[in-house]
Amino acid sequence: MKIGIDLGGSHIGIGLLNNDNELLEKVEKNRKESFESEAEILQLIESYIDKFVSENSIELIGIATPGNVKENKMQNLFNLGISKLDFTPLIAKYPDIRFLIQNDSKAAAKAELRYGALREDKDSVFLCLGTGIGSAVFINRRLLQANKNTGFELGHMIIEKDGKLCHCGKRGCFETYCSIKRWKEKTKEELQLPEVSSERLVEIVKEQKENPIVQKSVEEYIEYFLVGLSNIIDIFEPESICLGGSFVYFKDIFYDELVKKLESTRCVFNKDSVPKIVLAELKNDAGIIGAVLE
Ligand SMILES: [Zn+2]
Repeated sequence: MKIGIDLGGSHIGIGLLNNDNELLEKVEKNRKESFESEAEILQLIESYIDKFVSENSIELIGIATPGNVKENKMQNLFNLGISKLDFTPLIAKYPDIRFLIQNDSKAAAKAELRYGALREDKDSVFLCLGTGIGSAVFINRRLLQANKNTGFELGHMIIEKDGKLCHCGKRGCFETYCSIKRWKEKTKEELQLPEVSSERLVEIVKEQKENPIVQKSVEEYIEYFLVGLSNIIDIFEPESICLGGSFVYFKDIFYDELVKKLESTRCVFNKDSVPKIVLAELKNDAGIIGAVLE
């Protein structure tokens, strides 16, 4: 048996999987604010692991988290609200269990590649649009990774010179315009809405589709998204681009228009290279399943 842990910006999922990577049981926890400390995160994970370990024979624990992994330490955790996360003490507590620690978007992408929306494609790109924009690129079904950190940080490619400040310190990053979190914050502020759930925000945007503020907010999001997609398509020429993360919950607002504009606007160098734009199929389970995939 395996344990998969998905540590996200707004959600934590932990699941028990069999050796065929089928999810047998899962617990989920939503959180509004960033974690206060590294100790708080480790304590929470440990309590979940203890529960599953006491009831099952566990061979592998996979952890998917934002940032880059180096020697069991995660760094650049901008979207978790802490600067580093060291899993060494946790690993030492369970000496008989193998640990696999990896970036959350790349883990979710592997799950979509093997079991979800990208299972038929050779060359594909996965974008996880949520608190930020995580990404993974597959050529001939192989995940591309640089040796230094892992690279392929498509969310941090600059799409606006001297643009909005990103968590990473740069300006004009793709994720500062197209993460779902940024779009939600901006739209709520412009519509002067109180704290509302994502479900309610979708309803409001649909109800007010004639409202010029709503129209502008959606239009701007799609325009910036096309800039990002144009760069990604011309560099990698994927057969498919899979959109995952909380974008899936906002698909009714953006998806049709995005696909229509991508097909009708001249934003791809090779005209026959316009890829399929598909939605992630595994939703919140992608991170948990992907966490245990090599
Ligand atoms: Zn950035």
